[in-house]
Amino acid sequence: MEDASPNTQSYDFDYDGFITEVIPRVYRVRVPLPDNPLRELNSYFILSDEKTTIVDVGFDHPACEAALDAALTELGRTWDSVEILLTHSHPDHTGNLDRIYSHGMRVYANLHSFQEVENLQMMEAKVFEPLVRQAARPQDEGLSFEKGAVRLKLHAELLPLKHRPLVIYIEEGDTFEAGGYEFEIIETPGHDNWHICLYEPQTKTMLIGDHVLERITPGISSWFATHNALEEFMESLGKMQRYDVELVLPAHGDPFTDLAGRVLYLKEHHEKRLEEIYELVAQGHHDIISISQNAQWKYPNWSHWPLDQKYFSMAETMAHLVYLVCDGKIKQTICGDEYRFELPS
Ligand SMILES: [Zn+2]
Ligand SMILES: [Zn+2]
Repeated sequence: MEDASPNTQSYDFDYDGFITEVIPRVYRVRVPLPDNPLRELNSYFILSDEKTTIVDVGFDHPACEAALDAALTELGRTWDSVEILLTHSHPDHTGNLDRIYSHGMRVYANLHSFQEVENLQMMEAKVFEPLVRQAARPQDEGLSFEKGAVRLKLHAELLPLKHRPLVIYIEEGDTFEAGGYEFEIIETPGHDNWHICLYEPQTKTMLIGDHVLERITPGISSWFATHNALEEFMESLGKMQRYDVELVLPAHGDPFTDLAGRVLYLKEHHEKRLEEIYELVAQGHHDIISISQNAQWKYPNWSHWPLDQKYFSMAETMAHLVYLVCDGKIKQTICGDEYRFELPS
């Protein structure tokens, strides 16, 4: 990650076609995510007479701040008209708050406070750091040795917000008014505990965050054996079928129309993955590292991956394992300080 002090660096990027009006008074703003495989985040600007609502804001990075700033200027708006709505807690959606937040700015999200997110991240690290350390190679970046103990520092993108602005809690069934529309708030946990989508019935538009993306399979992570994130995700996918949707506005990639087709694809993808993980356990892979290492991924040579990628892939494997355990297909025991997965006897 590029290191820059806040608000002091200007950042150039290609402004050509970076704003488009997707439905009347709602604009897609393509915010660059430098050095990240996702490449871009879509922030959506909803223009009301008195206020400008920005849905999702990008990383804590000067390029993200510059993009929002340029979009506001282009739309003839100023920062004092801005309120923020966050579809979920991930840093590519929230991190930029550390740069753009000013006192009194309203921030809406389905979380009670950012402390809630940080608490969970701390617990996740406690469970997963020993595993990542075990999966690390000596030359891996992020590993250091202090007073004889191995310490692990994960990528800056995983770190929580430095400043934690107050949040206004919004939940299932609430209506959010902006741009002359009444958006219905839909809770869609799975990709993130606090994920929400916004449905606009007049134009049949779904602001979908990272819940369903057209070309990317959203990551699903369980960090604890008691949290069945995949089941939550599958239920949240099912919720999408209740809505008549003609236009999907995702947080990454182009807007698309075939929501039902994509939902079906994602369900099948996870069902296949569950079968694969079950087979690996049946073949005698009993721990998360061994199962993750032997599963099929988009990129080969799991053992040589960067630590962050291993971290997420193990949490994804854990999500499938927890689902299979809850479904009674495999059983989980604890052996020493390690989870062990096997077929029921
Ligand atoms: Zn996300
Ligand atoms: Zn995202």
